[in-house]
Amino acid sequence: MDDRVLTPIEVAQPAPRRTRQARVAWGQRVVTVGGDAPVRVQSMTNTDTVDAIGTAIQVKELALAGSELVRITVNTPEAAAQVPYIREQLDRMGIDVPLIGDFHYNGHRLLTDFPDCAQALSKYRINPGNVGKGAKRDTQFGQMIEAALKWDKPVRIGVNWGSLDQDLLAGLMDENSRRAQPWDARQVMYEALISSALGSASQAVELGMDPAQVILSCKVSGVQDLIAVYRELARRGDYPLHLGLTEAGMGTKGTVASSVALAILLQEGIGDTIRVSLTPQPGEARTQEVVVASEILQALGLRAFVPSVTACPGCGRTTSTVFQELAKQIDDHLRAQMPVWRSQYPGVEKLKVAVMGCIVNGPGESKHADIGISLPGTGEAPAAPVYIDGQKAMTLRGEHIAAEFHQIVERYIEQRFGRRDA
Ligand code: SF4
Repeated sequence: MDDRVLTPIEVAQPAPRRTRQARVAWGQRVVTVGGDAPVRVQSMTNTDTVDAIGTAIQVKELALAGSELVRITVNTPEAAAQVPYIREQLDRMGIDVPLIGDFHYNGHRLLTDFPDCAQALSKYRINPGNVGKGAKRDTQFGQMIEAALKWDKPVRIGVNWGSLDQDLLAGLMDENSRRAQPWDARQVMYEALISSALGSASQAVELGMDPAQVILSCKVSGVQDLIAVYRELARRGDYPLHLGLTEAGMGTKGTVASSVALAILLQEGIGDTIRVSLTPQPGEARTQEVVVASEILQALGLRAFVPSVTACPGCGRTTSTVFQELAKQIDDHLRAQMPVWRSQYPGVEKLKVAVMGCIVNGPGESKHADIGISLPGTGEAPAAPVYIDGQKAMTLRGEHIAAEFHQIVERYIEQRFGRRDA
């Protein structure tokens, strides 16, 4: 007999996060960030903020896709003047998502000269590398913090390696050259990013900000760089952290790079809000970045946003594309319905549907799902067993399998998640 003693395999799960908790609010809507709050999904518009209607429409689309915070560029007096109007349009449409103003170079002036803009925003993003040079830096940074205190808004100290504080970097380079064993240039850059974020955060706290209302980010575009910087940032403090790979790129490359970088850090309990900075492909919706961010959190088991559809990749056992088409139809339908279903069918986002291509894994995978169908592979009898809550419930045959399965899914959702009081 084998005398090895088996112990249960540890269940993998993300480490707990240990940051303070910020509150980003608009009206009655309060989005908590950090601590035990869910990891939040953020996005950013790419419209000209001066185009208030276009910007409000895109913010609405991002919010309906699941973005819990939306950032808009506030770069000119004309843009700042439109911010209250954008907020008003959103309120009229019933969209209470908090708006974040993204400021560079002239934020101190805009927040002072346009009090309605300062008030309409729910958070200010301050880039310490773009606040001002020399003696002006501290004064202008102070003016932005003054606005945050006056209007009771949290701030994000958002450092980016593309706009790093050059004086700070030069000072660290000098210091490094005097070391007996100088650090690698990349390590000096990491230190500059972190020092810039933590130094500015301390300055904000000295000026009166509640440390919990100071969110930090240090964005870089390399996966390994991001991991190194955020591990250290998390080790050195307990400020809530906004996480994202800057300039992630387009399509598959941007999606994969963001997913791997964010997943590693989130699994370690690092990151309280995330953004996936995808460059939209021509014709692609801006909301794709929200879809990817949500999918990352859902894949890690951190959040549930939309019902998940498990589909097999297909292989030589099925030459039919029916299961691919059905999986896509069901996935598109579930996603499209979510803005309405969120309130109509509470909990529906946890639903699991399986659409499988043949008998090999079809019945097994379908039984693991809440509702699943195993379509016939090549040479199998033209029958598609449907499994509900792990039990075979019926077998579909004939021309209308897809439409019938669609109806079965709808009925299941209504029965299981419909409000009893509706
Ligand atoms: S379930 Fe069947 S068709 Fe799908 S990948 Fe597995 S063997 Fe291939």
